[in-house]
Amino acid sequence: MQVVPIPILADNYAYLLIDPATGDAAAVDPADPGPVLSEVRARGLRLTHVLCTHHHGDHSGGNVAIADALPHVAVVGPQVDAARIPGLTHGVGHGDVVQVGSLTVRVLFVPCHTRGHVAFVAGEGAHEGPALFCGDTLFVAGCGRFFEGSAEQMVTALFDVLGALPPETRVYCGHEYAVANLTFAATVEPENQAIHRKLAWAVAQRAAGLPTVPSTLAEEREYNPFLRVHVPALARGDTPAACMARLRDAKNAFRPA
Ligand SMILES: [Zn+2]
Repeated sequence: MQVVPIPILADNYAYLLIDPATGDAAAVDPADPGPVLSEVRARGLRLTHVLCTHHHGDHSGGNVAIADALPHVAVVGPQVDAARIPGLTHGVGHGDVVQVGSLTVRVLFVPCHTRGHVAFVAGEGAHEGPALFCGDTLFVAGCGRFFEGSAEQMVTALFDVLGALPPETRVYCGHEYAVANLTFAATVEPENQAIHRKLAWAVAQRAAGLPTVPSTLAEEREYNPFLRVHVPALARGDTPAACMARLRDAKNAFRPA
């Protein structure tokens, strides 16, 4: 299994999920089809699937153009949001599997950012650990806004659904937000040295023109405030959902100095 991040639009990531055994590949959230199709051609791959995490245009906006260019491609996305996913050919729900060459991709239902948001996990059982494509649900040191869901749903998504994956799971998220997210994290948990170390690393990566993806779930638990809502310094006596809501409100209002 190979994963290639492709920076698109202002700060989005599309990904190619490649099965080296067959040369088959899936494109995750290829909202700008040009650079994604160029990469497919340059690598001599056969694109078999688009995997669409949610309906927002910066994730789903390339579905139709890719299906027009490559009519055999299956466009996979959440069935509960079928009316809002352009070009959808294969509506899926929690636990469904998609086969990309010899790779099995499992669908996880994580509604909150949108009411139909899904994540895709590939390569479960692989020795290097699975790859998680989580769209706008989990970011490096952050999580998505609760546009169509509640703090309770984000707790379920991050702890019960994504949190059930192995700690070595590599996290491939939908946006490059690491520096801004870690800058916020440092204000809510200033004593946490893992935040400061990751922030210094992320600043250096970005200065070198490199991505901050992937991280791992184990790493995220060290510095991501939204995965630390049960830690006393952040919870301050609140329930996980109440802490999640408070952190999200604070992040929404946060403007770096
Ligand atoms: Zn979104």
